[in-house]
This record gives sequence, C-alpha cells and structure tokens, in this order.
Amino acid sequence: MLADLPNSVEIREVGPRDGLQNEDTIPIDQRIALIDALSGTGLAAIEAASFVHPKAIPPMAGSAEVMRGITRVPGVRYRALVPNERGALDALACDVDEIEVVMSVSETHNYKNIKMSPDESVSQIVELTDLAHQEKTPVEAILSTAFGCAYEGDISPRRVAQYARKVLDEAGVDGLSFGDTSGMATPRVVSELLDALTDVGINISEIGLHFHNTRNTGLANIMVAMQRGVSRFDAAIGGLGGCPYSPGATGNVATEDVVHMVEDLGATTGVDLDSLIDCGQLAEQLVGRQLPSQVLRSGPRTRTVTP
Ligand code: ZN
Repeated sequence: MLADLPNSVEIREVGPRDGLQNEDTIPIDQRIALIDALSGTGLAAIEAASFVHPKAIPPMAGSAEVMRGITRVPGVRYRALVPNERGALDALACDVDEIEVVMSVSETHNYKNIKMSPDESVSQIVELTDLAHQEKTPVEAILSTAFGCAYEGDISPRRVAQYARKVLDEAGVDGLSFGDTSGMATPRVVSELLDALTDVGINISEIGLHFHNTRNTGLANIMVAMQRGVSRFDAAIGGLGGCPYSPGATGNVATEDVVHMVEDLGATTGVDLDSLIDCGQLAEQLVGRQLPSQVLRSGPRTRTVTP
C-alpha cells in the first residue's frame, strides 16, 4: 500500500504557453479555442499567455487578444508569464489571475535566455512583484534549470535552494516553482533538491514542480515528489513543449498521463480525463502532428476493448 501521498494534487496546464511557444505560430482564435476547451476539464490553473516582445517569441504575439478573447470559467486561474515591466503592465491590464516571473539558476542559461545574471534577475523579480502586488495580483517565481543545465551540467541543489530563499525573502513572491528546463531531473536529483529546500526552511508541500519528459523520467519524478508531499505539478496537454534555449530539451510531461497516474494513486485532481483526452486530440490537430502523450494513444487503463 502506498502511504503518505497527498489527498489532492493540483495540475497546472502549461500547453497554451510553454507548449505553443515552441511551435509554428498558431492563429489566435485557435489558441483561444484550446484554452477554452482546457477550461472545461476541471483544471484549476492554466498558463494561458506570455507577454514577451513579439519579435523575441513570435508564437506568443497577440497574448493580450488571447486573454481578452477567452471565456473565463469561474474557479480557473489564468496565468501569464512576464519577462519585464512592460510585460507585467500588459498582463495586469488584461486582468490575469496570476503573474509568473522566471529566472534561471544557471548563470549561462540565464544570460542566454534573459541576458541577466541570476542576481540581477532577483532584483528584477523584486520590482515586478511590487508592481503586481499593487494590483493585488499574486506572483509566482519559477526557478528554471533547477535540476541541471544543458550548458553547465549539474546545478548544485544548495545553489537552487539559496536562490529560492532569496526570492522569497527579498521579493515576497506568493509561490515558488522549479523547472526542469533541460530535462535533466531524475528521482534522485528531485530528492536532493527537496532535501536542500527543506534545509533552508522552505515548505515543500507549498512548492510547484515543472518536469519535462526528455529522458522518460517525468512521471517517476512526480511520483517521488508526491511521496515527499509535493502536491502541485505543471503539465502540458499532449506533452507539448520544450525550451528553445536548451538544446535537446523536448516535451513537458503530458497532462493526460499525469492526471491518469495521480488519480490512479488515489489523489484527486478535479480533472475529467475523458475531456482532457479530447483536448489532447484538439492540440494534435492544432500543431498538425502526433504528440507524445501515451494516455492520449492508449486511453486510461480501465478502457476495455469492445469484442
Ligand atoms: Zn516546460
């Protein structure tokens, strides 16, 4: 018998942003259609947009139109990523429910991604959090390359924990999440980071984790984290995603696969798997290719073959 797992787990859908930003540009009405479909599955949070400069990430151009075009479902939190003050102001003007700010713990990745040192990023997060809090909008800081970096290799869990502590103390962010940008997390690496976070006084039952399935350890990572009390995970419909600045880092864990496993373990997600599988099919239509989700192909384990 599996003991000590959380009773409920929050799955946060990141396909419409983290997923689609790595695809050829998809028309705005189709981005809206995907978000609206996901809104009807019972997901509590959807990363809907990124307020970056359209030249930097062309597939995210028109994020304000997306935010204004979607049908807000009560109970769903619509989140947006912001890279700077301009992006934060634009996102707040669209009345997003939560702002996400990102920094990379890896010096090299942070420079390549946002042209700052990690310490400069902390200062920026302080400013952006002040701005969002003036509008009473909560902020989550995402620490990327938290499990390793494609440029630098291993990233010390202590270094990640120290930056997490710094962002909490200096910026007063409302939430923390840790991203496996380069797809280098394994159950061992996850355990070591959770130890390091605990050592600096961070309550790991309140953090979120973001895994990619680059080396097929995504679900194992989630399992280990759940056994340690983590109850918030990002996932992308169909397994969309990757990171343009991390060579070889493909695919977020697929929302269908995560919901299927978590519910089977007896933890509630509030998500209807059949509706989610319909969304996975829609996502495949939008990008015009088969996506890596396994449950999208096979259906849930309870599916029986009609004789
Ligand atoms: Zn991702």
